[in-house]
Formats: sequence, C-alpha cells, structure tokens
Amino acid sequence: MTMSTTTREIRLKSRPHGLPTPDNFDLVETTLAAPSPGQLLVRNTWMSVDPYMRGRMVDRETYIPPFKLGEALEGAAVGVVERSNDPAFSIGDRVVHFSGWRDHAIVTASDATRITGTDIAPQTYLSALGFPGLTAYAGLMRIAEVKAGETIFVSAASGAVGSIVAQIAKSKGLRVVASVGSADKAKWLIDEVGVDAVINYRETPDLVAALAQAAPEGIDIYFDNVGGNHLEAALAIANVNARFVLCGMISGYNAEQPQAGPSNIFAAIEKRIRLQGLIGADHFDLSADFNRDMIGWLKAGQVKIRETVADGLENAPSAFIDLFKGANHGKMLVRLTTDAALSR
Ligand code: NAP
Repeated sequence: MTMSTTTREIRLKSRPHGLPTPDNFDLVETTLAAPSPGQLLVRNTWMSVDPYMRGRMVDRETYIPPFKLGEALEGAAVGVVERSNDPAFSIGDRVVHFSGWRDHAIVTASDATRITGTDIAPQTYLSALGFPGLTAYAGLMRIAEVKAGETIFVSAASGAVGSIVAQIAKSKGLRVVASVGSADKAKWLIDEVGVDAVINYRETPDLVAALAQAAPEGIDIYFDNVGGNHLEAALAIANVNARFVLCGMISGYNAEQPQAGPSNIFAAIEKRIRLQGLIGADHFDLSADFNRDMIGWLKAGQVKIRETVADGLENAPSAFIDLFKGANHGKMLVRLTTDAALSR
C-alpha cells in the first residue's frame, strides 16, 4: 500500500443564503499530518451528508457549534486505519468516527469505534446502524412509546431516518401512513416496506384532505422530518393524546426569513397533544438495545436499506445540496474510495 503525503478536504468557503451552492465549498489539497500518540490516521472510505449540517453552516450556536469558515467540515464517516499510534487499534481496523468531508482523518482513538463483524456493509454504520437509525429508534421507542395497532404518520418517509421509522413501526404492528416527494419513493414504500398508505405531497394540492383520506381513523403519532405544511396537516388530523416526535423541519432549512409556526397550533391544546423535540445524540444510552434490535431486524430482512451514492470527495457538496431537492432515496452517502483502491 502506498502512503500518501497529501490529502484533500472540503472547507466551508462562505455561509450559504438559501439553498447552498457549490461556491459555498472549497476542495483543498493539504499536507497529511502524522498521528500523535493516542491518535490514528484513517483513510476514509465513506462519509455521510445530512440535512442537519445546513444548520451548522449558519453562524449561530445551537446544540452543536457552527462550522467555521475556512475550516474543514465534519460529520460521520467510516474508514480504515492506515497508521495507529494507539495500542487499542491496529492497521486495517475499520472504524466509524466524526471526521468526514476529507479523504484522510487524524482521529483521537477514543473518538473512534471499531466496526466488528464482516457480514454488515461498513457504510451501514452511517445509516441504519448509525445516527439516522438511532434517531428513528429513540424517537419511536422512547419518545413516541409506540403501541401495536396505533397509526403513525411519518414525513420524508423514504429518507435515512424516515425509511427506518416506517420499517420499525411496521415491525411493531403499527399502521403506517407515509409522505414522500416522488412516485418512485411512494411505490417502494408500498411494495417493499409494506406501509399502509402513501401521500406524494408534490402532487397533493390539499395535504390535510389527503392525510384525512389516508388515515380515516386519525393519527396517534406524527414523526416530523419536514415541518411546515406537514406539521399543520398532522395537527389537523391528530387524535386526542397524540404524540408528535419533532425530529426535523427540512422544509424550512434554507428559508432566508424566520418561518411562521403552524397556524393551527391551538389543536395541541384541544387534543392534549404532546410535542417533543428529539436530538438523536441524546440517546446513546440506548445503544446496546438499539444495536441488538437493529442487527436483528437487518438480518431478518425486517429493515431494508436504501442508499443513494455519490462517488468521490469532490462530489460531496453536490450530494449534500441534493438532499434539499429530494434526489436521495434512502441514505445519501459519499463513497471516498473502494476496497480495490485501498489494497493498492
Ligand atoms: P433524508 O430524509 O434522507 O433526506 C432529506 C429528504 O427530505 C429528501 O430526500 C426529501 O425527500 C425531503 N425534503 C427535502 N426538502 C423538502 C421539503 N422542502 N419539503 C418536504 N420534504 C423535503 O434526510 P435524513 O437524514 O433522514 O433527515 C430527515 C430529517 O430528520 C431532517 O429534517 C433532519 O434534519 C432530521 N434529523 C434529525 C435528527 C435529530 O437528531 N433531531 C437526526 C437526523 C435527522 P422527498 O423526496 O420525500 O421530499
């Protein structure tokens, strides 16, 4: 294997206004540092692009600090240890860590998790077995406290989080009503996931009427990935004592002005609805149960994974931007190198 002396990373060049453009990003060639004691040099093989990264591009402190201008972006990635300066890791170990958006990463050993077992594709640790999967799991099991026989509405239902929500909910015996933005995604949810009803919101002039028709018994749970008109429709149709898992509101992420809240929020009082925000990373204490259950569901075929893959670090910005155009079906991933290239 030839050892590189330089590497590439994507830096935030400017803060986006509205939908990000490729001009907001810089692909930079930089010197490859050596790992200090307690560190690893990792050749990244896959990296994740996620909608929440849009929030980190705004200069505003939230639950996670903003990205700094002129510095490499970061996010979940998997890779292979090329040099180890820590006794707990060996060359060739596959690891998951948080230094994506670069071909190589210097990772503190305590920030890396070794991927064991060879029967699960490593990039699954960025989707079903990673943050999206844990977020779906925590939202359903801990916040929504799902029960068989209930009806759940999930938006962005063919995406990284939504597709896992829909599948766990089906395996728990819920009636699942899904919303997506294309006929292909709707077909997959009906044919492969077995959801009970799908709304293609792009072809639906009246979302409230469409949801009322898809869920004539009302909804007991809303798993919100979209916000905006989806949240309003869910409030309109919800049953008394419904639980709303507020996971994401992607319809407003590129808005240049603050977005008005749902005009019918008073329904939450009338119907005693519990609306609860969810940050997946708050629920690492569920990791053991989550890993056991998710590996079981994956092996039993109860959770199927869809991926949309862009190749090469240079295409990471466009893959990220495409999330806001609905170009992904399942988890949006960037493949940074292949196993064949790794062995050269
Ligand atoms: P994703 O669903 O895989 O990808 C985003 C999808 O959102 C797109 O494919 C598109 O699907 C849909 N979308 C984009 N713009 C939209 C719009 N204006 N209106 C309606 N739908 C739109 O992404 P993900 O990673 O699973 O994230 C989904 C949501 O969960 C996001 O809001 C994200 O911020 C949130 N999230 C939250 C946490 C947490 O800890 N709270 C963790 C992970 C994700 P369609 O073609 O169906 O429109």
